Amino acid sequence: MWILRFWKGCTVRCGFCAFGKDADDPDAYILDDEAILAKAQGAADNGAREFTLMGGVHPDADIDYYEHLLLLLKGEFPEVMIHGFSPTMINDAAVASGMDMAEACEILKAAGLDTKF
Ligand code: SF4
Repeated sequence: MWILRFWKGCTVRCGFCAFGKDADDPDAYILDDEAILAKAQGAADNGAREFTLMGGVHPDADIDYYEHLLLLLKGEFPEVMIHGFSPTMINDAAVASGMDMAEACEILKAAGLDTKF
């Protein structure tokens, strides 16, 4: 399993976690598509057969964004299993997209999320 942290930053501030940062914090980051694919290729070259996508709760992330990430990775690595996104991440993105969790999960599964719900 390989864990891709595609951004560091989170609107939630759990006391035990270093991901809780504002977008303008110097320690926050978000990876663009090129960087994500480069990291994924490196993992695949080292034998990764499963990607776990994790990040904080991004204030601007909607379901379209997560769908894009899945289509991006599945397009390049169709044989790799993809798990990821916390329930909080999906819930906040579903709210931002004006849909319920069930609809959001169906969209993500159709885009390549292999996590069983
Ligand atoms: S990334 Fe998860 S654990 Fe960390 S602050 Fe955000 S919600 Fe909490």
